[in-house]
Amino acid sequence: MTYKNKIKFSQNVLIANVNPEYLGVPVVDEEWELPRDKIQIIKELKRGNFGVVCEGLLLPEEKRVAVKKVIETAKDRDCLEFLNEASVMKQFTSAYHVVKLIGIVSREWPQLVVMEMMDFGDLKSYLRECRNDNPPPPSQMLLMAAEIADGMAYLEASKFVHRDLAARNCMVREDLVVKIGDFGMTRDVYETDYYRKGNRGLLPIRWMAPESLNDGVFTSKSDVWSYGVVLWEMATLACQPYQGMSNEHVLTFVVSGNKLDLPPVYPKPFKTIMHSCWRWKARFRPSFLQILDELAEHTTKGFREVSYYDSPEGRAERELLA
Ligand code: ADP
Repeated sequence: MTYKNKIKFSQNVLIANVNPEYLGVPVVDEEWELPRDKIQIIKELKRGNFGVVCEGLLLPEEKRVAVKKVIETAKDRDCLEFLNEASVMKQFTSAYHVVKLIGIVSREWPQLVVMEMMDFGDLKSYLRECRNDNPPPPSQMLLMAAEIADGMAYLEASKFVHRDLAARNCMVREDLVVKIGDFGMTRDVYETDYYRKGNRGLLPIRWMAPESLNDGVFTSKSDVWSYGVVLWEMATLACQPYQGMSNEHVLTFVVSGNKLDLPPVYPKPFKTIMHSCWRWKARFRPSFLQILDELAEHTTKGFREVSYYDSPEGRAERELLA
């Protein structure tokens, strides 16, 4: 098969960036349904092409929450995707570094998804804001990297492949705890991070592993590749990966075996981890728990809250790996 055909093939496989694990009609679940009047919207935080994220209060406790709603002009498909994302989040309520779903308003318009509030928003915006301010010191970066790996280790153990791990999809809490925060709809906010081929779905080419680009294969090991790109984003305070290269060029570049240049400054352990995440053969890349083992050697501070790594399941899995 020529290279061109391979790409064509990969286009056929990568029909959309909607994770197949989301597909199916979302089940309206009594347990998660919230009455509309229990949510008070305070202000809009971010608006995309078909979604808005607001700050809100959950009544009567007046607990601060993040509320996502679909905008008035959204199409049926967008609404379905919106509820699908919440359905995915329902599965991860016991996850440690995954943003928690609080409830859903699905029977009334506008439909709402209520989540744990992550005050500093997405990691990409946070890192960019840090450029003029105080960039997080290496110890902070290492901890943030460990929290992302911990969220991903939980997803990996749940046999869930994210397919779109990137700094824009990690969320930062006020105390700088980072969690995996988006399951499928960020493309309107950072549209330039995605690549549209014809009328097919948008693909996060710059975060994708060569086997995903080549053959449409997505596994936890391709998530590990993307994790390497997240470390690179952290080290560069959210530069665009492969800056100056067109999407087509990035595609050819990565499937020909090339990698991102290492940034000039980064927390030392990032180098080894980035290299191992970008191993060509997926099976030689580490698992997220192995990445955590590597990070643990360099972090003096432990996790600031319970982690999958230290949970009974995480410990059992680590014993099996040892
Ligand atoms: P959409 O799916 O409509 O694109 P996202 O989930 O991508 O919405 O969120 C858009 C932006 O809203 C994010 O980039 C982030 O800055 C902010 N955001 C998302 N979730 C939260 C949250 N739980 N807490 C605070 N801000 C959030």
